[in-house]
Formats: sequence, structure tokens, C-alpha cells
Amino acid sequence: MNLRILQMNRKKADLPIKICKVCGLAFRWRRKWRKDWEEVKYCSARCRRNKNLKADSS
Ligand SMILES: [Zn+2]
Repeated sequence: MNLRILQMNRKKADLPIKICKVCGLAFRWRRKWRKDWEEVKYCSARCRRNKNLKADSS
């Protein structure tokens, strides 16, 4: 009964995962990053914008 879900999970699990440098969440490979996955460091454009927002908010 859950076979379809299991197959989907297995397929998903094959995708590489990275940790976002800003929010610390794990994010999975997406097709739009196919060309520059090695360069991807943030889970989203918003996090990429926030990369300079660090704890030192003077
Ligand atoms: Zn993030």
C-alpha cells in the first residue's frame, strides 16, 4: 500500500544534500542547480542575499 511512497523516497534520497551556510538547513539538489551544484552554498536566493547578515549587527 505504501509502495509508491517508498519508491519516491528512495528516488529522492539519491539526490545529494548540502547544508545552507546561512540558515543551517539541509537542502537537496535541484534541477536548476544542475550546472553549478558545486557552487551552491545556500538553500535559496533569500539566504544568498542574507549571507552578509551575521551576528555582528552593530
Ligand atoms: Zn538557507
